[in-house]
Amino acid sequence: MNGNKVHPSSKASAHYRNSNSSAAATTGAPIGRPAPLQSDSAAGCAGAKSVPVLPQMIGAAAAAAAALAASPSSSGLTPGAASLVGAGASAADSAAHNMELASLFECPVCFDYALPPVIQCQAGHIVCSNCRAKLTSCPSCRGPLANIRNLAMERLAAQVQFPCKYASNGCLAAFHHTAKAEHEEICEFRPYVCPCPGASCKWQGSLENVMQHLTQQHKSITTLQGEDIIFLATDINLPGAVDWVMMQNCFGYHFMLVLEKQERMDSQVMFYAIVQLIGTRKQAEQFAYRLELNGQRRRLTWEATPRSIHDGVHAAIANSDCLVFDSNIASLFAETGNLGISVTISMATAAAVATGSLNSSSDLPQQQQQSSSICGQGMQIG
Ligand SMILES: [Zn+2]
Ligand SMILES: [Zn+2]
Ligand SMILES: [Zn+2]
Ligand SMILES: [Zn+2]
Repeated sequence: MNGNKVHPSSKASAHYRNSNSSAAATTGAPIGRPAPLQSDSAAGCAGAKSVPVLPQMIGAAAAAAAALAASPSSSGLTPGAASLVGAGASAADSAAHNMELASLFECPVCFDYALPPVIQCQAGHIVCSNCRAKLTSCPSCRGPLANIRNLAMERLAAQVQFPCKYASNGCLAAFHHTAKAEHEEICEFRPYVCPCPGASCKWQGSLENVMQHLTQQHKSITTLQGEDIIFLATDINLPGAVDWVMMQNCFGYHFMLVLEKQERMDSQVMFYAIVQLIGTRKQAEQFAYRLELNGQRRRLTWEATPRSIHDGVHAAIANSDCLVFDSNIASLFAETGNLGISVTISMATAAAVATGSLNSSSDLPQQQQQSSSICGQGMQIG
């Protein structure tokens, strides 16, 4: 972990995790949004625990309402259960019936669904695979957890539409069990996790609360205003895995800049630089970012669409879907161990967003650093 060195070229105040200065770093107020209806909700199995019945009722009620509107016999005077006739009634019935069947798959421990392969105890009780991995005996009868598959339940599961596990957060979608997990990965009701790289912070909650979390729990992250800034990573030669993080505010949004250093198995050192938006995937698609390293007659540029923090940067880094360079390239562009990365955020145009692009060139005249760019120092994490 680094001390309190500040690179001489740093024009913005630098903030470290352990420093107690906070003035400039906290200027980014949360963007104007209505107050969240619901505070942090747990993810995973436990997410479904709170109100497993609610989605059933919503689903059934919605089906009934739709059926009511479509019903030719609707007089509009006294809509109610009694006026449900014909196709309307059967649609509502089948939604209710589906939920009844789905409830048969509820895990007695976490109330998530025990999806195929369905494993039962010797007495026939089922438990979801998540909970099963943590149990030594059946939660219903305390009997041994044998590896007995329940094929009848598995066949039944194929006939059931299971509600999304974020139903209690407001998701109304239901899926065949094979499509459920895939949806939940991208479900917009999935809680957001702390966007800081490195797994040390376990916070999760709604999008509206992310900025508040960052300004309260990660006070030392530097924030700069503007579309064009310099992200300064100091001491890039520090050994081991290090993340540098900074915030950039422009267009009314907050962007998080991440430089991650990894040491690979073959002891080669790789750097990954990426930008993520504190926002949804849809919001992120409105923007493009450009990262640029400028050095002696050299320039390395990467342009792409920012990631949404809902997706995070881990997968993108693992897939090298970001600005990637090794320690040799880093040393070409670094000055006395500090690396400045020019970051430009822009509104996406149709042509620019299509794909990420990478250009490198060594024939360029030395790039004039835009004098308007302000420079801020990335906070080191881990
Ligand atoms: Zn469970
Ligand atoms: Zn049992
Ligand atoms: Zn969902
Ligand atoms: Zn956090």
